[in-house]
Amino acid sequence: MSGSLMNRIESKEDDLVKLTQDLVRIPTINPPGEFYKDCAEYLGNRLKARNFSIEYVRATGTPGDTDTFPRINIIARREGLRPGPCIHFNSHIDVVEVGQGWTFDPFGGEILDRKIYGRGTCDMKGGLAASIIAVEAYIEAFPDFAGTLEISGTVDEESGGYGGVAYLAQKGYFSAPRVDHVIIPEPLNKDRICLGHRGVWWAEIETQGKMAHGSMPFLGDCAVRHMGAVMSAFEKDLFPALAKKRTDMPVVPEGAKQSTMNINSVHGGQSEDITGFPAPCVPDSARMIIDRRFLIEEKLDDVKEEVYKILNDLTDKRDDFSYQIKDMFEVQPCMTDKSAPVVQAVSSGIEEVLGQEASYVISPGTYDQKHIDRIGHLKDCIAYGPGILDLAHQPDEYVGIDDMLDSAKVMASAIHTLFTKGQRD
Ligand SMILES: [Zn+2]
Repeated sequence: MSGSLMNRIESKEDDLVKLTQDLVRIPTINPPGEFYKDCAEYLGNRLKARNFSIEYVRATGTPGDTDTFPRINIIARREGLRPGPCIHFNSHIDVVEVGQGWTFDPFGGEILDRKIYGRGTCDMKGGLAASIIAVEAYIEAFPDFAGTLEISGTVDEESGGYGGVAYLAQKGYFSAPRVDHVIIPEPLNKDRICLGHRGVWWAEIETQGKMAHGSMPFLGDCAVRHMGAVMSAFEKDLFPALAKKRTDMPVVPEGAKQSTMNINSVHGGQSEDITGFPAPCVPDSARMIIDRRFLIEEKLDDVKEEVYKILNDLTDKRDDFSYQIKDMFEVQPCMTDKSAPVVQAVSSGIEEVLGQEASYVISPGTYDQKHIDRIGHLKDCIAYGPGILDLAHQPDEYVGIDDMLDSAKVMASAIHTLFTKGQRD
């Protein structure tokens, strides 16, 4: 690709920095979903001035959508002079809460040693800014490009993406024939291509008992002791079995290359928020929420069956044991093929810009690719963007200016590859 495009991106450094700072200074904290409209309009105004057509889509009725905190997404589209594939850059505009331990102003966008600090710099306003600069530079360098470029700023990724990418995918914004290739500039490091993520199953298990006076527990049946039995069975049978399941998916970090389960919470008996002295009662209910992450080699039905079996064995063996289990949330694992056009294009961009081979990773947790895969049925999708994954959601989160410039160059190179070598199918 032309060196002039690379030079053009370098010459936009001040614009890139200012854009990132402006975005960081809009505190789009989720929950509750603050300042979404401001952020969407900021993006819309910028891209409209560059001849993009702009759509604002409010995800009415999705979780958290109210007139105070409307779920407003923006989609900007710029069609080239000639037909060709559509490349879409999707970034979430929401950020997580600030938390403790900051030495920088979380919404100041301060710069030190060529790093921009603030909540959302790394995850993922730096990636959003880099993709905008890449697209704008590309259009300037190749005004007669054949195809369509889209940039979206979507909400609620940090809370499941229902008012964001999921909603838009249901409306056809992430499907053929509208879109062919999607890049999500999440912070996965500038030399890595993230092909997908592990699967998720959240469930709530309840053990049941019988209420009685706490001085005569033999007259009741303690649901918390039953839950204790569930936990020991998990320790003895489930966790060791999960540790043995290894995946061929290139999951990072290493510890996530196996099946995992987090016990998210356990509650039983008297609620924790009582004031005063507790009443002496035998608890008749205990609840546990599990967060199971599974591998592409596993089937969700088998993942569930493994837990059901432990619970059913307890029902057989343990006096008066009874339980209920209910699904709360599930996501299938996904992994884009390495031979997919967008993977090939970004991979050659990494080689060209960084002079090294791309590495391929799978995210331990999910992100919006799940909706593009499952609802949009679009398989040519990856995450690629600047920023160090480990910094996401931490205090003093930052993004490196040079990383943003490099990844913007990689993105521009990938656009060129997809427009000039890509075939619309
Ligand atoms: Zn993110």
